[in-house]
Amino acid sequence: MGALKNVLLAILVLSLLTFIALFGQLPALRKTPIGWLQRALCIHLPNSLKHVDRLATGGRVTSKSKRLGHYLFYEQNPVVLAKYRQIIFLALLTVSCTLFIWNTVQAVPISRILPIPVLVALPYYFTYLTVTHTSHFITPSDLSSRLRDYPYDYILFHPGTACRTCNLPKPARSKHCSLCQKCVAKSDHHCPWINNCLGRGNYRYFLFLLLSLGVLQIYGTYLSVYILGPIYREARSESTWEDVGNALVEAINEGGISIAGVGLLAALTAVLPLGLLAYHCYLVWAGMTTNESQKWADWRDDMGDGCVFKASRTQLGVHNRSQKYGNQGVADDNPALSIGLEDGDDIFVEWPISSDQVVVRTNDGKPPAGQEGLWTRIWSLDEVENVYDLGGWDNFAEVFRGH
Ligand SMILES: [Zn+2]
Ligand SMILES: [Zn+2]
Repeated sequence: MGALKNVLLAILVLSLLTFIALFGQLPALRKTPIGWLQRALCIHLPNSLKHVDRLATGGRVTSKSKRLGHYLFYEQNPVVLAKYRQIIFLALLTVSCTLFIWNTVQAVPISRILPIPVLVALPYYFTYLTVTHTSHFITPSDLSSRLRDYPYDYILFHPGTACRTCNLPKPARSKHCSLCQKCVAKSDHHCPWINNCLGRGNYRYFLFLLLSLGVLQIYGTYLSVYILGPIYREARSESTWEDVGNALVEAINEGGISIAGVGLLAALTAVLPLGLLAYHCYLVWAGMTTNESQKWADWRDDMGDGCVFKASRTQLGVHNRSQKYGNQGVADDNPALSIGLEDGDDIFVEWPISSDQVVVRTNDGKPPAGQEGLWTRIWSLDEVENVYDLGGWDNFAEVFRGH
């Protein structure tokens, strides 16, 4: 029992740490205990270790482990290693499933066995679809249609910007990925586990992958409860806590690593794909990608500081055109301030929501010089419109259509 208890404890601690590391960095949880623990674990602890290492070895351990970490998790080349990582993920799934099925097949009726092949196959299928997807990478040949996918919102995305690496104009909602070395349409995030970017087209497969993993884990948990339930009930005689604990230990002991261990692993780690799925459903509902949610969080902080201003694009255009020859200082490096001066930047995009807003942040907390009368200070995100948010269910429909 001692060994099993240790294994279970290790699984519990590992799932808890993974949970904190995964979810603590989400903007929504930044100011909660999960966010504080994430920063303590992922920022402050490594920094203190680095400090100790600098004093003890002159920083040799840090630089070696950094290189190893980057090599294992992010390096695209050699390709073999990138493949290994997907194999590790699938191997863990395969070993757990095989171990579990091998030991449960005789113990449960055929009706409970029947769903297993489908439930096990689905995560592999969606992993395959997510990993092999490439149409979200922006190429010169499909650039013109990518530019027509989404309108610029003049808050997160402005026309007239180009990717310095790809040398291509940046479509609204796209982002360059330094690991894929390509611009990604409707970029969500780069996932090191599947070694591909999630974006327009494969984001839906990623959601189904999370769902299918969660369902598989819940079904595994259900089966182990189904098998070990009678043992537990038989061992229990009174309703004291001690008795419940003893009966549980006996059932777990009887089940061993392959049934009780895998069942508990499935139960404890189901929170990872399902929690992540819940978070991504919230993002879809709110009409944003992970990338955009980080940008919105930055805007929210700047609005709280009182250095964000909103104006009407039409009015700004009229103003700028009338000032064109009188005031040369308007068109500086901020594209939002020179609206109306360079025609032809914005392409017409068919989109259900149109907005006349333009939003800027200034360093000095004052409205842009020379245009003071046109800008009003805004304090919260409620005062701006997210044109990419078509409304809860319609956002889901778009994602499932591969948009
Ligand atoms: Zn690029
Ligand atoms: Zn990427």
